[in-house]
Amino acid sequence: MIGGGIAGAAAALALRQEGHDVTVYEAHEDPEGDVGAYISLAVNGMRALEKLGCLAEVQSAGFGVPRMRFSTAGGRRLGDVPRHRREADPMHSVTLMRGRLVSIMRRAARAAGAQVITGERLLGMTETVDDVTAEFSSGRRDTAELLVGADGVHSTVRKLIDPSAPRARYSGFYAVAGVSSTPSADGGVWNLTYGRNGAFINITLDERTQWWTAQVADPVRPDLRSIDDDAWKQRLRQLYPETVPSEVLAGTTRLFGSTLMHVCDPIRTWHSTRAVLTGDAAHPVGVAQGAAMAVEDALVVAAALRVAPTIHAALEIYDVERRPRISKLLKHADDSRDSKRPGPVKRRLDVVKMRLMLPFYERATGYLYDYDAAVSGERISA
Ligand SMILES: Cc1cc2nc3c(=O)[nH]c(=O)nc-3n(C[C@H](O)[C@H](O)[C@H](O)COP(=O)(O)OP(=O)(O)OC[C@H]3O[C@@H](n4cnc5c(N)ncnc54)[C@H](O)[C@@H]3O)c2cc1C
Repeated sequence: MIGGGIAGAAAALALRQEGHDVTVYEAHEDPEGDVGAYISLAVNGMRALEKLGCLAEVQSAGFGVPRMRFSTAGGRRLGDVPRHRREADPMHSVTLMRGRLVSIMRRAARAAGAQVITGERLLGMTETVDDVTAEFSSGRRDTAELLVGADGVHSTVRKLIDPSAPRARYSGFYAVAGVSSTPSADGGVWNLTYGRNGAFINITLDERTQWWTAQVADPVRPDLRSIDDDAWKQRLRQLYPETVPSEVLAGTTRLFGSTLMHVCDPIRTWHSTRAVLTGDAAHPVGVAQGAAMAVEDALVVAAALRVAPTIHAALEIYDVERRPRISKLLKHADDSRDSKRPGPVKRRLDVVKMRLMLPFYERATGYLYDYDAAVSGERISA
């Protein structure tokens, strides 16, 4: 595995379950990384984690968020729908710190017998018919039957498999996250306010603590490194004068930092003969499904390796199995990103669109939660 984030740790666990020898090479020592301060796992991701034996630990490291509400900048409620699940599903989406999730999964991978080596950055790879050799910046080399590129949105493995593959680019949004001590009675609700300058999300942990993320629309890629915490607080208060965001921002006790958000054109080539992409390396998706998709990928790669006569055949099965689902999700993510772009006329049209669409939300998104990677594994086996 190249990359020890969610996709790499999940693939390590899934392949260990099938009895493969696994080594994970991760560039950073620290699992916190800079991708998303906290993330939500949709129920399809939770069910995939259950297959990997991590469900209980992930549930106890985070908190369940059963509902989500959408509001206009003026505070008018547009809709209240189940969060990342079907209404009747007793399993709830869980929100937790991303670093915590990666720590749990890396620990589980080690406990399952995978070697996890940190501080090693992949630079190159050489494939033959029989094996693939990874080359690292330290000079280290390692040869295996299969290389899994789980190295994120700016994947090196993607470029090595196909030098003409699209590169991730700035999406026109950046995210800033923090914790606020603003009181709220809305426990277990993910609230999204469409603000003048993007979208503002706040989730109530308990009656005195809220986690928030401001997704700021800014067409010109900003330099986020030069901004300190006080300057952020000031800037965000100007960007989000709307009632709910300004109240939550005023009670901020801690900032988690800021992250540029990226998009990538669809990546046509997910594998070569002995290397394959999973997670964001293959398909940065958005709409809070990236983590879930990375875990699903892992289960499907493992199932395909179990049944296929050759590694290359397994990688073809993986592509055929995952491609339609990811393509459908990418379309859905484009629509969601577009609804957060500002502009007074567009915003009014978006509000009308949301009001029409929200009653059918479950019908539109249910396909995401119905997928069971283990069932798809069984289908592959059949
Ligand atoms: C602001 C924000 C909020 C988000 N919120 C959500 C959410 O709520 N729900 C959700 O599901 N998803 C969310 N996401 C997306 C989610 O974080 C990603 O989809 C997920 O982290 C992808 O996991 P990954 O393992 O594929 O990639 P990453 O998490 O990026 O992991 C890749 C790993 O590979 C390592 N690496 C990179 N290059 C090399 C190399 N050359 N050699 C060795 N190691 C390397 C990196 O250090 C990293 O640890 C969010 C993303 C952002 C930016």
